[in-house]
Amino acid sequence: MLTRRSLLKNGVAAIAASALPLVTSSMARAAGPDLAKHPLIDAHSHIWSPDTDKWPLEKGQTKADLAPPSFTPEELFAVAHPVGVGRVVLIQHHIYHGWNNTYLTDSAAAHPGAFSVVGMIDDQQPHADTKMDALLKKHVRGFRITPFIYKDKWLSSDGMSLMWKHAAKTGQSMCCLIDAEHLEEVGAMCAKHPQTRVVIDHFARIGEDREVRDADVAKLCALAKHKHTYVKISAYYALGKKKPPYLDLVPMIRKVFDAYGPERTMWASDAPYQIQGENTYQASIDLVKEKLDFLTAGDREWLLRKTAEKVFFSA
Ligand SMILES: [Zn+2]
Repeated sequence: MLTRRSLLKNGVAAIAASALPLVTSSMARAAGPDLAKHPLIDAHSHIWSPDTDKWPLEKGQTKADLAPPSFTPEELFAVAHPVGVGRVVLIQHHIYHGWNNTYLTDSAAAHPGAFSVVGMIDDQQPHADTKMDALLKKHVRGFRITPFIYKDKWLSSDGMSLMWKHAAKTGQSMCCLIDAEHLEEVGAMCAKHPQTRVVIDHFARIGEDREVRDADVAKLCALAKHKHTYVKISAYYALGKKKPPYLDLVPMIRKVFDAYGPERTMWASDAPYQIQGENTYQASIDLVKEKLDFLTAGDREWLLRKTAEKVFFSA
């Protein structure tokens, strides 16, 4: 039953929302990023809020499952700004938030210009294309797809075909969280949808079981023949020896760089996972900034800013 008090409360909320259409009800709107001071782009981080009443967790997850317990935009900026990173691509985290992209889109609205979003849509549900259009208006420039939800059916639904087809029109990217064994099926989709932009996360996780196999790296490099494919060189804490300064990953990075070129390769942290124990945000970016001696200054510009800008931030 509506009481006078609840009517009053809702009325005030409605007035506040209409007066400030760009402000989400839950966050104050911050100033844009200072691109002169923080010109670089991190192409992959997660964020989550301890306010699980406002941004509910996926069924089965509780606040105690959040590790770290909080990683908000402010906590992300606290590690990113000191190394010159002012813009970040936020990646939907299915474990915590399922198909609900609201925390990321609210954060993008609250920090204009600082974030682009890679969301998730359930391809087994109808109308994936209209959902993509609606999310595009909320800075969602790509969609995370992965075999870890629908297993061997992950690329075969009508909804998935529709997403790849529609993405070629909207300029949104299909962003694959996969292992090397899935690279060939991604290549088959690229052949069917040659205009669709595809971004491979974390070198297709080659080396996650500690061994970087040449055959896997060759498969990743072979995908480069599709000209709209990109690779994130990221998640060093999880690959190979998993220890800074990550020099054991340099031969793989070199091969990927040679196959894709600077304009299709982008650095990313995978924070907050990259920030634990001796693995740090700074150690991650330092590998690309300082340790890869085959890069020119111009190459570094692409890896640390221009490639991600083209894919996730340009109009
Ligand atoms: Zn990640």
